[in-house]
Amino acid sequence: MMDSTPASPFEYAPAPESVATARLKPSYGVFVNGELRAGRGESVKTINPANEEPLAEVAEAADSDVDDAVQAARTAYTDVWSKLPGSQRAKYLFRIARAIQERGRELAVLETLDNGKPIRESRDVDIPTAAAHFFYYAGWADKLEYAGYGASPKPIGVAGQVIPWNFPLLMAAWKIAPALAAGNTVVLKPAETTPLTALTLAEIIAECELPPGVVNVLPGGPAIGQALVEHPGVDKIAFTGSTAVGKAIARSVAASGKRLTLELGGKAANILFEDAPIDQAIEGIVNGIFFNQGHVCCAGSRLLVQESVHDEVIAALQDRLQTLRLGDPLDKNTDIGAINSAAQLARVRALADSGDDEGATRWSPVCPLPDKGFWFPPTIFTGVSQSNRIAREEIFGPVLSVLTFRTPQEAVDKANNTPYGLSAGIWTEKGSLILWMANRLRAGVVWANTFNRFDPTSPFGGYKESGFGREGGRHGLAGYLESESYLAQ
Ligand code: NAD
Repeated sequence: MMDSTPASPFEYAPAPESVATARLKPSYGVFVNGELRAGRGESVKTINPANEEPLAEVAEAADSDVDDAVQAARTAYTDVWSKLPGSQRAKYLFRIARAIQERGRELAVLETLDNGKPIRESRDVDIPTAAAHFFYYAGWADKLEYAGYGASPKPIGVAGQVIPWNFPLLMAAWKIAPALAAGNTVVLKPAETTPLTALTLAEIIAECELPPGVVNVLPGGPAIGQALVEHPGVDKIAFTGSTAVGKAIARSVAASGKRLTLELGGKAANILFEDAPIDQAIEGIVNGIFFNQGHVCCAGSRLLVQESVHDEVIAALQDRLQTLRLGDPLDKNTDIGAINSAAQLARVRALADSGDDEGATRWSPVCPLPDKGFWFPPTIFTGVSQSNRIAREEIFGPVLSVLTFRTPQEAVDKANNTPYGLSAGIWTEKGSLILWMANRLRAGVVWANTFNRFDPTSPFGGYKESGFGREGGRHGLAGYLESESYLAQ
């Protein structure tokens, strides 16, 4: 139900970025063997989810482009990349990092247009963190023998990489940077609704004069992803996306000899104790679930709040939500952008409706939605029980499910009562309680008195149905290196 409290008294003049900054081209294609050309598959329009206007035509890949890309990656691996000294690979990675920084504003506007996320986030988080990943892994390229994977770690070969639409350029950087640093070549498939920044990254890579075939980019849908995953010329699959598709991929590569890492969904608990600094925690809760419209695998989508402060926290949260600004993602004042696609909006709506049907109480601030595009207001459900779908299933939208607890053990039990295990947050002033909780939470990343903090030096990945393998940090190299032992007498 919509509240009738008036919106924030603070008004800002609109401050939109110009669409021209994105340097949109009328058409895009594939990037194979160093060449940007039309794909042989379907030609599709990629649209701006904030207004449903077409942005560009994308000539997607066909199966024959997959063959060509894998062949190009194999040749580049065998003839050039695996033979280059690490210091030379580092030189290229540093170049890419600097070029991303130089074209940062263009990439940020392009990302916001294709994805719907607020420009503040693409400008301040996605693009700088993508550049930071290339800088970070450039630093490892000539130091692999000190990374803890044996005295002479070897690359695996050709990596097939499939990524989702929620952080299109950042996910490409997470995948490409460690793979290249370790000496592999790659074929990357971006998500079908957000191919534009990955294809601009391809252009950057060509301008940085990487040897042809070291990186190949194939826009396309699930069928192209599947063709890449099943291609016999690929040695390693790195997948980020939904748990259902991750399971299908695991089945399809089983016993094929391909190495596999999976970064899948989540249903993180953000746990707030009564002694937490409430104002600071409210910012963390808002960032945890409304950052990127909740299209975040590690989103704090379940708030577990200690019963004694439940009412105080919900009132403070509702006050804060009144001040969030939803609208034009290109406007620098915007906090909440568009949902990425009509299909995703339908999923968010259906799950939110299930919350109503199962007896939880829905609340949203006064929040007029634009007439065109895909929009969903920031939403809180209270009175949620653990068996409700909104407490169990990943909504991947701006919807927070609130549950309560009385003791730390109850908080741990409820937080771990999920098939996922990607992340968790703890809010308390007691350091001992943070450590006690962190040791018991089955989550790959545990944040304390903060949330959604990403750093290229820090490993990221899940337990249980959130996948396996780690990206980021020294650990992120493991998925791209063969570990060998030499025993001599
Ligand atoms: P999705 O699984 O539908 O699609 C992800 C990618 O896989 C897309 O590029 C898609 O084209 C491709 N794909 C679909 N079917 C395929 C198949 N059978 N074989 C090969 N490729 C296939 O997921 P999505 O809706 O794009 O992304 C949202 C999901 O991603 C959420 O569940 C989210 O939690 C997860 N995610 C996880 C992480 C992480 O690091 N753990 C990060 C971001 C997103």
